Amino acid sequence: MKAEKYEAGQKISMMCSGCDTETPHTIETVTKLGKISKAQCDTCETASTFNRGVKTSVAGSRTKEASPYDRTRKYRKGQAMNHFKFGHGEVTAVLETQKIDVLFGDTTRRLIHAQDAN
Ligand SMILES: [Zn+2]
Repeated sequence: MKAEKYEAGQKISMMCSGCDTETPHTIETVTKLGKISKAQCDTCETASTFNRGVKTSVAGSRTKEASPYDRTRKYRKGQAMNHFKFGHGEVTAVLETQKIDVLFGDTTRRLIHAQDAN
């Protein structure tokens, strides 16, 4: 991230966890030093928060739809879930077959999905 100062309401292009590509974002809050602390994707409305310029968490716009994690279910990027152990999470990446990366708070965990029920 560049060392320039930002201000709330400014538009910048950056990586979006929901879209998994660089998209236009609207800066929502900045720190006293002019660093971005929260920005929202204009495309999918995923909000990202930052700590010293490092993305620390994402909050999807689909929070209300979060349902319990189910390994037999097929997930897609940006989908929210409630894990029995890790709590609320959001799928940040769909990897090779049956593997997904899910962000729980500030920790990304690799889970399985789309697994046939036995
Ligand atoms: Zn997005």
